[in-house]
Amino acid sequence: MAISRILIANRGEIALRIHRAAHEMGIETVAVHSTADTDAMHVRLADAAVCIGPPPASESYLNTAAIISAAEITGCDAIHPGYGFLSENAQFADIVEAHDIAWIGPKPDHIRTMGDKVQAKKTAGALGLPLVPGSAGAVETMDEIRAVAEEIGYPVLVKAASGGGGRGMKVIPSPDSLENLVRQAKSEAKAAFGDDTMYLEKYLGNPRHIEFQVFGDGNGNAIHLGERDCSLQRRHQKVFEEAPSPVISAGERTRMGGVVAQAMAEMGYRGAGTIEFLWENGEFYFIEMNTRLQVEHPVTEMITGIDLVREQIRIADGKNLSCSQEDIAFAGHAIECRINAEDPFTFAPSPGKITYYHAAGGMHVRVDSGIYAGYSIPPYYDSMIAKLIVYGKTRERCIMRLRRALEEMVVEGVKTSIPLHEELIRQPDILEGNYTIKWLEEWLEKRG
Ligand code: ADP
Repeated sequence: MAISRILIANRGEIALRIHRAAHEMGIETVAVHSTADTDAMHVRLADAAVCIGPPPASESYLNTAAIISAAEITGCDAIHPGYGFLSENAQFADIVEAHDIAWIGPKPDHIRTMGDKVQAKKTAGALGLPLVPGSAGAVETMDEIRAVAEEIGYPVLVKAASGGGGRGMKVIPSPDSLENLVRQAKSEAKAAFGDDTMYLEKYLGNPRHIEFQVFGDGNGNAIHLGERDCSLQRRHQKVFEEAPSPVISAGERTRMGGVVAQAMAEMGYRGAGTIEFLWENGEFYFIEMNTRLQVEHPVTEMITGIDLVREQIRIADGKNLSCSQEDIAFAGHAIECRINAEDPFTFAPSPGKITYYHAAGGMHVRVDSGIYAGYSIPPYYDSMIAKLIVYGKTRERCIMRLRRALEEMVVEGVKTSIPLHEELIRQPDILEGNYTIKWLEEWLEKRG
């Protein structure tokens, strides 16, 4: 059965990204959208569009019944969930498959396992991935938590098993604040995820965030596409990503890539996935796995020449991986800047009407965005409106091209993070690749 019509269960730039890959494969697309997104670019470009509800995501982009109905009515034989929304909802994946619609994503059981961070760590450990030292599983009583904390040594991090977006996580610097902080983390987790299961980890002082892109065919074959460095973060949100990482050698990439690909092969993993590590003093420590396409996937595409969405669609269609590990060559350097509609330094959201827009262009410059002049950014969703991705033969040339591309980008009518990126890529530490997950917040504080 060949996929002929894909329902895109998402919005914004990623919806357009999926539409583009599909059309390049001769596959039709159906957009589903809320009433706030009637004028979105991907809705205009899709072969058909169905309005699935009012602006709040809970009534539209998370409305599984409306999405499945739209797929049935328009004769879709596959659903691509993008990232966020329903992309890591194992129950939705089950429902899609129960309707004989191809789920362009991992096996539902793998989504379920990796969505529970305690389970994910156990699975990763069993597959031979190096873990952050911590509790063997969930921790229950205060006495138990205290004992584990003593054993791994302060500072420790208490984390929610169902956590995400950095919520339900507290750093415990010393024994005297333990009880209070655990209580706070638990109540935060209960409120956000309805689950206050906790586990403990050693708190790493100053690591980098380095993640590996993996792909499996679901039948025991898997490859890795190298790493991305996503250490530039604010409140655990990535701001700027690059591939390869300035600190990972070709030898380390081959070694660690081999470890993660082997783990995915053993699992029988299907589709795209990302294995996230913290990296400190030359050591990798697994923190979590994301069972979906990532926002920052284009930097990997730029240095490997592989279209990751096309690959996802092929695998969902039962085809083999389009290449073997030996076919994959890493060439050059790529950087992505996330452009949000927000104040560049206070980060206050800035939705509204774009009065003028001019995208950067030229050799090796890619803009993934659904915005256009006259488009109104709705206030209901994520503030990211565009991704600027630039490639260069070397990191230096990539940065010079990025400067030039940022100069060309014009977005008027709303505030954007373009000025932040323009400053960032002039900082000596960034030019030298010398930064950790703490760098951006410390720099913002100093900047005032
Ligand atoms: P979430 O799913 O909430 O994003 P993660 O486990 O992916 O949680 O962690 C998010 C971020 O929190 C990491 O990128 C890193 O910046 C920080 N972090 C997580 N675990 C640790 C740790 N053990 N030590 C130091 N920082 C950590």
